[in-house]
Amino acid sequence: MRVRCFFTVLVALLFVLSGIVWAQDTVQDVENFIGKNKVTAQHLLGARAAAVAMDELSFDRGDENVLSMTSAGYAIVKGQTTEKCVDGITAVTGCTTGGGNLLVIHRSKELPLWFAFYKKDTKEMIYLQANDTVIGKSPAEINTLPVESVFSIIAKENIDINSLLGEPEKWNEKISKKVFGGNESSLIGIANIWSHTNTTYDYLQAAKFHNHICPGVTSGYLIIKYLDKYLPLKPGQSYKIIACPAWCKDDALQVILDTTVGKKAMYVMELTEAQKSMLPDEAKGVAGLFIRWDGKSETGDGLVLGFDFDKAGELAGTTNLSGPFVKLKTALTMMDYVNHPETMVSTLKQFKVTSAGELTALQSAGVNPLVKVGLMNDTGAAAAAAPGITVKIDGKVQNFSQPLVIINDRTMVSLRAVAEALGFKVDWDGTSRTVFISTK
Ligand SMILES: [Zn+2]
Repeated sequence: MRVRCFFTVLVALLFVLSGIVWAQDTVQDVENFIGKNKVTAQHLLGARAAAVAMDELSFDRGDENVLSMTSAGYAIVKGQTTEKCVDGITAVTGCTTGGGNLLVIHRSKELPLWFAFYKKDTKEMIYLQANDTVIGKSPAEINTLPVESVFSIIAKENIDINSLLGEPEKWNEKISKKVFGGNESSLIGIANIWSHTNTTYDYLQAAKFHNHICPGVTSGYLIIKYLDKYLPLKPGQSYKIIACPAWCKDDALQVILDTTVGKKAMYVMELTEAQKSMLPDEAKGVAGLFIRWDGKSETGDGLVLGFDFDKAGELAGTTNLSGPFVKLKTALTMMDYVNHPETMVSTLKQFKVTSAGELTALQSAGVNPLVKVGLMNDTGAAAAAAPGITVKIDGKVQNFSQPLVIINDRTMVSLRAVAEALGFKVDWDGTSRTVFISTK
């Protein structure tokens, strides 16, 4: 009994001591980095998350195998922005933006404040979610509170891509239990792509903004590599993009090319299922219109590009796989092709834009730009999709000059052709936009 008591006291003492030791070891680092009189509770919160990670993942300051990620700077907790936590992480881990191993991941402001650390040689990741109640506490309180009061979640997992793919059921369960606070796919994806030898900082910029890794955002990166080769910019030129249809690629394009929606460098349009069905087979993977616009001459060279996701799946060997990390595996394989983007990106059509008015016409509401540039037409492609349908009147096959088309599962026939075949007289008044049908 006495031994057990002694042991309990010892464990309790170690907890208290670990807090004090933490403070002694790292507060000095924070003070050196921030300036002694400028240290805030937020600096210490970021530093404390980093100190736990260093202990759990066994790394020292400046270890280049380590990636730090956080939502600090985007998360707003109890009305307070949280950017100072980021410097606390740097002070302790040595991870920096310039070093490419400190990533502030885009999140909506109301989502939790969290910290994640990944060590690429052991493939272990630790996730710490700040307890909202610590925001507003004093620096001294952040230093001395037990670690389990400072963080509401502390979780460590091995995130090696092969074990992720090999244990889909285990990971489905971990994801449903939100082991990393609902950030599992996001953080595991970014950490894995960060470790890829071909990953560059510009890709990571897109990853930070898009906040997850998928074949979609990676296709955007490969499209940029394709534009570098086949539609490079000269001074005075910029890209105008019509994302039709839109997908994750467009976030990479906006971040890396600065083709933002707000600056009118990107217009985003969706295709309806009926419009998609009208696309010619070779254009099923259409990604949109990419125009190299010359501001001085107000003219542009355009490419309609397509992306082949089937090819990406085939190269990754993921076509018939299922599980939560299959798309990540596809994205990782796609990074092997950054110097050969034409493996998956293709030019479906070239076109010229000869005036600013013509550019506006492509971008305006109600216009299908793919029809405008002649990649598809509204009715011709549909006519091809409606073969073998005949119309008979009193048993006699009608050969209308206008082809039959199917739009939204309805077979469309020219009203004039049918009415005239039935013996009616048809007149059109363009001024009042009226069709007159009379019995002669
Ligand atoms: Zn995505």
